[in-house]
Amino acid sequence: MKTLSLRRHHERRIKERMRSYYGGYARNNARALGKLAQSRSPCSCWMCGNPRRYSGESTLQERRSLCFDATEAALTGDEYDGGTG
Ligand SMILES: [Zn+2]
Repeated sequence: MKTLSLRRHHERRIKERMRSYYGGYARNNARALGKLAQSRSPCSCWMCGNPRRYSGESTLQERRSLCFDATEAALTGDEYDGGTG
């Protein structure tokens, strides 16, 4: 069971780690530190943001799914339709 004290322990632990991330810019800024602790990407620029938005790249989960479908089709002898359903 996740108790309040355990969640607080991990929150403190994560925030301590985040102090040195990205050159330590959030070290003395409680708000920035909290944001970093909740989400590791400090912004959504083209380097940090979702690659689908900037380059139309598919997610790792989608690529895994396509690979799994192709493998499954090869094993069962079915014709692979490119993952269209
Ligand atoms: Zn960024």
